[in-house]
Amino acid sequence: MSFYFGVDYYPEHWPQERWETDAVLMEQLGIQVVRMGEFSWTKMEPKEGEFHFEWLDQAINTLAAHGIQTVLGTPTAAPPAWMVRQDPDILPVDSHGLRREFGGRHHDCQSNHHYRQHIRRLVTAMAARFGHHPHVVGWQVDNELGNSHGDFCYCPHCEAAFRRWLQQKYGSIEELNRAWGTAFWSQEYSDFHQIISPKVTPNGHNPSQMLDWKRFCSDLVADFMRFQVHILRQYCDPRQFITHNCMGFADKVSYFELGKDLDFLSHDQYPGGYFAQPPHQPNQRLAAELDFIRGCKGKNFWIMEQQAGITGWECMGRNPAPGQLGLWTAQSVAHGADTVVYFRWRSCLFGTEQYWHGILPHSGKPGRTYQELKEVIAALRPYMEETQGITTPAQVGIVYSYDQNYAMQIQPHNPKLTYLGQVMKYYTALYRANVPVDFLSDQGDFSKYKLLIAPLQYLTNPELEEKYRNYVAQGGHLVLTMRTGVKDDTNLCHPHTLPGGLSDVLGIEVPEYDCLWETSLPVQWDGELFSGEQWCDLLAPSTAKTLAVAAGEWYAGTPVITCNRFGQGQAWYVGTEPDEELMNKLMSELLRAADVSSLGEAPEGVELACRKGRERNYLFVLNHTETPQTVALGREWESREVSLPPYGFAVVGSAGEELE
Ligand SMILES: [Zn+2]
Repeated sequence: MSFYFGVDYYPEHWPQERWETDAVLMEQLGIQVVRMGEFSWTKMEPKEGEFHFEWLDQAINTLAAHGIQTVLGTPTAAPPAWMVRQDPDILPVDSHGLRREFGGRHHDCQSNHHYRQHIRRLVTAMAARFGHHPHVVGWQVDNELGNSHGDFCYCPHCEAAFRRWLQQKYGSIEELNRAWGTAFWSQEYSDFHQIISPKVTPNGHNPSQMLDWKRFCSDLVADFMRFQVHILRQYCDPRQFITHNCMGFADKVSYFELGKDLDFLSHDQYPGGYFAQPPHQPNQRLAAELDFIRGCKGKNFWIMEQQAGITGWECMGRNPAPGQLGLWTAQSVAHGADTVVYFRWRSCLFGTEQYWHGILPHSGKPGRTYQELKEVIAALRPYMEETQGITTPAQVGIVYSYDQNYAMQIQPHNPKLTYLGQVMKYYTALYRANVPVDFLSDQGDFSKYKLLIAPLQYLTNPELEEKYRNYVAQGGHLVLTMRTGVKDDTNLCHPHTLPGGLSDVLGIEVPEYDCLWETSLPVQWDGELFSGEQWCDLLAPSTAKTLAVAAGEWYAGTPVITCNRFGQGQAWYVGTEPDEELMNKLMSELLRAADVSSLGEAPEGVELACRKGRERNYLFVLNHTETPQTVALGREWESREVSLPPYGFAVVGSAGEELE
């Protein structure tokens, strides 16, 4: 069964007499699937072991009578009050040692044994009841795992789990002492029981302990999800899929890891989240998050929550202008969403998310949003039918690493330097050039890409170095950046001249560097002046060709960007964070050298993206601006020009029958 559009529905928030009206309105809108149940534990189990699923059955059947199928969420992001009072150790403890209380959501410790027993009982009962239900098509485990945990849990259960994780990783306390460099500040341990979760200290932390803690927390969340996946797989019909709704670049848990246990990944997309700068998040950031989720499992995904109105908790975001919700929907589809589920069906009258608006307003009467999305659904569905399940290859890959991100969070060097910030600089240049991008982990297949960009490869090991070496030797075009090869996997500095094992591939050494605090560095390339930011590696080329040099400071004339031929390929080293002009110059050089093709040229604020279909390719032309735009297209497309209203979009098929 194929699904294209759905909504997130909370029948428990409304009188049962209303459900039929909702189902009729959904059917008329073109809705085929709803997600339900992911926050309704107390409605399912008001007392321990007393299950009430009749209401859910009735909701499922009411919808099914209108051809609408159900995805069930396990409600484990909101343990009930009765459970928390019975087993208060379910509540998480923050890094100050304070217990976080009941009253919001995700007030749970994910290693807590009592909590897992409660989950096992409920999820088993849910699976027994709905695991073979003809109108339940799949499951979502929990909700936005890692997202609500501003601070992870530092309770005694988590501390014990951390010790077990360390014991398994290092085997002996001597090895842990070596790997963490505990000789510094007399931090040596003589027993694993002396190790604590890294709570607030008077001053500083051991960077190796912090990196392992972040990895442990990610592994714990993945284990928490896997625990539920195993129960569902044990009891449910294999035709029911299992997924989880991720949050783009949220970094508490590795989505590469979550993806391994799921049939596909889902993502929640809120372009105008109230947390974003008005009027909404930058277009390239929205595109990047979609590409990232596709990359985390290397396949298309669902949007499990696509913005359907004003967002808000205490404060509210902007009201999406006419066209904007459709534009954002089209952008999700253009980057690999096979199914789009809107959040939420109807604005709720109560609770924290009273102002997180749905397709229907509080009144329940269809208005502008309903009419607009009806047109959008009708317009996009034919293209979604043609492209569903087919991934679209890209020529450029960006290597994304949670470990590198964690290590840079622990020691950002320059307070303005972030791993994601640098990733986004490279992505943005590609986005502006209308070049499709895949994200992949450093475990992924590099050989698929003509150009591979690996920002801030700060932690290196011989296996990773060998992988980069082989990629270049066999003809790849590799970009490595500043601070490559500084540390090993446990966050200890390598005792080598930078960049270490990749020196010959890059044809350089990095004898010195400079942190550009509150200043930028003039950089000269082909007689033009640009700017480097945050950091500068001072390069000493051996075989590399110098492309750009420092044009200021005491090291004026020193190379900062180089390119080296190695084997059949080329390796670039970018020793600073380029400003926008320098990045554009660099990217045009890279795309030319690697012979990467673009989808074409488009006016500022207009995005081009491509989906491969069964018969032909489809170009999505997305106008993110508030003015009409006309876009000229190449001869490979069946229209040579499209005109778009403000926030409009168009989908254009390829001219020929043949696919490349
Ligand atoms: Zn805990």
